[in-house]
Amino acid sequence: MSPMPSHPASVSAPSAGPAGASPRQRLAVLGSTGSVGASTLDVVARHPERFEIVGLTAHARVDVLLQQCLRWRPRVAVLPTEERAATLRAALAAQGVATEVQVGAQALCDLAAAPDVDSVMAAIVGAAGLPPCMAAAYAGKRLLLANKEALVVGADLFMQAVRDGGATLLPIDSEHSAIFQCLPEDRRAWAARIDHIILTASGGPFRQRDPASFDSITPAQAVAHPNWVMGQKISVDSATMMNKALEVIEARWLFDLPPERIRVVLHPQSIIHSMVVCRDASVLAQLGTPDMKVPIAYGLSFPERIESGADRLDFLKLQALSFEAPDPARFPGLQLAYDALAAPAGSTAVLNAANEEAVAAFLAGRIRFTDIHRVNAGTVDAFVLRLGPARLLDDLLDIDRRARAAARQRIEELAS
Ligand code: NAD
Ligand code: MG
Repeated sequence: MSPMPSHPASVSAPSAGPAGASPRQRLAVLGSTGSVGASTLDVVARHPERFEIVGLTAHARVDVLLQQCLRWRPRVAVLPTEERAATLRAALAAQGVATEVQVGAQALCDLAAAPDVDSVMAAIVGAAGLPPCMAAAYAGKRLLLANKEALVVGADLFMQAVRDGGATLLPIDSEHSAIFQCLPEDRRAWAARIDHIILTASGGPFRQRDPASFDSITPAQAVAHPNWVMGQKISVDSATMMNKALEVIEARWLFDLPPERIRVVLHPQSIIHSMVVCRDASVLAQLGTPDMKVPIAYGLSFPERIESGADRLDFLKLQALSFEAPDPARFPGLQLAYDALAAPAGSTAVLNAANEEAVAAFLAGRIRFTDIHRVNAGTVDAFVLRLGPARLLDDLLDIDRRARAAARQRIEELAS
């Protein structure tokens, strides 16, 4: 049974009514300086009567976090090192801003579970976002999940934390938000009514490029997505289709569906964000311009709907909507998701760790684009039979650490 909300009444966060009539939703934005983080603040800025920013966090971009703190005056800001925190503290003090600057992974978890936080936007990239997601889940928060890697690594442990904590999990990934919007309101009726779901994928920048030339793809080419403006890591994932692989795993846990009921179709225009195929052959789809502000606004306001700031879809200007099967020779990474889901628990954490390391090495110019798949497939193959049971978050973090070490070794071999 899915712990996602089965009825609006199960949403525990205060819902905002007319200005001044009810409390504002108090929000922590983890990864506020990133693409999703910035889009979240953009939506929030349109609704000052509904939302209050309690916490903002960043990894490297202290200057951007400073500007955000000056604008939003959060109670707390979090950075990974004392050095960066000291820079931010000094700049805030010079401006007379009282935001408390905290440091490190524990501070992220403390913020995610803080009593004065109703909702957590999880917009950190990578498995680094898992501990604060778990903290938010255990603390029963309304958890807006963009950070797909956290669920790919956390898997059933993550979903159990959501159940145990009484949290409300709302998908922000556009495909999963689309499915969520198409599902019947009584979430318990999903399994009986749905035949399968179809995640759409744009195919990224190399859908038509000759695969024989993939070895020479540069990082700049790989991050130039045709439809979406996103962070670097997810842009490379879109080019390899590892993003869709991670999304298949994400959907498996979010919607409690077996992998064979999760399919992927290429849809280069990114207008249909995903579809639900019902038992009676009826298909429900969610459409819109490719703008993350739409699923973000939906997550922020569920079960209501608020202005997102995204452009409306103009059907009369739409080019044809087209669909293709993903070519496994061009996008071998997609199959890795199904293989990992069929392998022992923890395999998806291994796949994610390998991919994070491989993408970082590719972006740093150390390995070729085609090596990303070599690292991912090779690391999973070498690891799967050695996996012990993962019953605790620490077990998963240990798998993540060991898989990264194995992937780095493979990267060294390929880079030399
Ligand atoms: P991004 O790189 O633009 O931003 C990442 C954010 O996380 C930044 O604020 C950064 O400071 C922070 N961060 C990075 N490493 C960190 C670490 N080790 N510890 C703490 N914070 C860290 O990424 P993005 O494109 O905004 O994506 C964020 C998440 O949302 C990813 O999981 C991505 O898959 C998912 N997502 C993004 C989009 C999109 O359109 N960008 C769409 C769907 C899902
Ligand atoms: Mg997506």
